[in-house]
Amino acid sequence: MFPFFGYKTIPFFVLLFLFLSLPPRFPARTLPELTVVDARNNNTWRHFVKFLDAGKGSHVTGMSELKKYFQRFGYLNTVPETSLTDTFDDRFESAVITYQKNLGLAVTGKLDTDTVTQIISPRCGVSDDAAPAPHKLHVSRHYAYFHGQPRWARSSPMTLTYAFSPVNIIHYVSQSDLKAVFERAFLRWSAVIPVNFTEANNYWAADIKIGFYHGDHGDGEAFDGVLGILAHAFSPENGRFHLDAAETWAVDFGSEKSKVAVDLESVVTHEIGHILGLAHSSVKQAVMYPSLSPRTKKVDLRLDDVEGVQSLYGSNPNFKFSSLLASDTSMSWAVRLDSRLSMWAWVMVAFLTLSLCL
Ligand SMILES: [Zn+2]
Ligand SMILES: [Zn+2]
Repeated sequence: MFPFFGYKTIPFFVLLFLFLSLPPRFPARTLPELTVVDARNNNTWRHFVKFLDAGKGSHVTGMSELKKYFQRFGYLNTVPETSLTDTFDDRFESAVITYQKNLGLAVTGKLDTDTVTQIISPRCGVSDDAAPAPHKLHVSRHYAYFHGQPRWARSSPMTLTYAFSPVNIIHYVSQSDLKAVFERAFLRWSAVIPVNFTEANNYWAADIKIGFYHGDHGDGEAFDGVLGILAHAFSPENGRFHLDAAETWAVDFGSEKSKVAVDLESVVTHEIGHILGLAHSSVKQAVMYPSLSPRTKKVDLRLDDVEGVQSLYGSNPNFKFSSLLASDTSMSWAVRLDSRLSMWAWVMVAFLTLSLCL
């Protein structure tokens, strides 16, 4: 036999395949970048930076405030504020781990740079406490639903009406720009499912009621001023669609130069997903990912968004997967191919180990 394939080389192949099947590792981002991001964003949650590098057993003054944040977004059971301590205990560690899984971060159980950066990022006010999709055979599927999987129950193809509050509005975005933004956002969803959206004149009779609100506006989900929580919408068939009036909403970053400007169309597209019944996704590129940085546009539905909403409503007969972003479908295939390559690497390891034993 050719010596290269002798038994002595088998351990080398075993190690090689083990190495190849490991997931890629990327160096964590450094603190200076985090500080820059924080200063630019003037973020509601910027003071959470002081918890950087905290882990189980840490005791940092004010950590009870961070625990309130975790309660707010569904990671800790709601308890009286007085019983929240400043200690990083077991319960908090498991909350951090769940958060890292839900946000597609490396699962370290610690408040590392990526985790703190994510925590202080502006985000949607809808809780991340949701029911995962029932089938997760493919690693590319990370969409989720609200508990009980509510959806609009009307015969298909259905038409939902929307209207703008006559009172709770912002004046620096023109009516025509506002209507055009919502029309484009609704069209993105109706292109993939058999659901149409039309604007109604009667606000009170509309299925989807849209308004811009300041602070506490009576639904138990107070807004918090510039950045922090950007918007929230309720699950089917509630239809309430609320945006934080304190944000600098941008229709065009060319004319809106503010560093804290938030792209209206991106947030509207995301909230429509909630109106239809989707909860948050852990896929960072997906429209249903919970956070959005200022001056960022993310309006194209990704494979994860489409698969999630089509599981609830079926497909629009005119929809073709080829219409999705080429990079999205190729990424999805790359992920699936990668998982299959890993599987083959493990099969080879098992085979070689077995041949060593014989
Ligand atoms: Zn959301
Ligand atoms: Zn509200």
